[in-house]
Amino acid sequence: MRKKIAAGNWKMNTDPNFGENFIKNLENRPFPDDVLVILGVPYVSLLSMSNTAKKVAIAGQNCHQEDKGAYTGEISASMLSSVGCGYVILGHSERRQYFNETDDLILSKIHKAFENNLEVIYCCGEPLEVREEGSHEAYVGKQLEDSICKLDKDQLSKVVIAYEPIWAIGTGKTASPEQAQSMHANIRKVIENNFDRECAEAISILYGGSVKPANAKEIFSQPDVDGGLVGGASLKEDSFYDIIQSF
Ligand code: PEP
Repeated sequence: MRKKIAAGNWKMNTDPNFGENFIKNLENRPFPDDVLVILGVPYVSLLSMSNTAKKVAIAGQNCHQEDKGAYTGEISASMLSSVGCGYVILGHSERRQYFNETDDLILSKIHKAFENNLEVIYCCGEPLEVREEGSHEAYVGKQLEDSICKLDKDQLSKVVIAYEPIWAIGTGKTASPEQAQSMHANIRKVIENNFDRECAEAISILYGGSVKPANAKEIFSQPDVDGGLVGGASLKEDSFYDIIQSF
């Protein structure tokens, strides 16, 4: 049975005060036992939020590929671990676009995350022009083959995949449940071809791109969709809570 996951990505929004109150209020509500809730939050909020959280897992939104050194402004995987993170989001399209992250680099970050006991939410997804020309499956397949398909099976078991079509991130334009299902099935096939059926069946694949309470249930009900990576709608406690309950 695959893990059901509701993950939030706060990006460069909020402060520690907001984060601590958010966790307290969210965890005061009845929580489904079978849904793993993860919040990817700004670095300054990691420590206080992981100290406050009892049920929610806390994630960094990036880490550097080296252990330490003269990399002004960067954060290491061991730093994330030391403030209570269990996860790190890697390969988000905003990191790929604005910070020129390639799958080679992302793979080295993934290894560093594992060395520091972090599990990884690996993001992939195609831009609009690739979707329009119809080569989205091949595009995402290549992202996977250049990164997580180079791991061994044990390492793969510490990865959650987030499929996030770039044209649906922060745009209000969501992939249809059928589009999400079809890409998730394709991703599972790529994992099966590069590992085996058991690995493909075990890995959780999240959909990301304008998930909100109004569409979460239908998207999450697709057989190969195991939850969501949620940006904007994870910043409001009520909407994130509704999404957690949408399985
Ligand atoms: C994201 O940034 O991962 C994301 C999916 O954002 P949004 O839900 O706002 O589209």
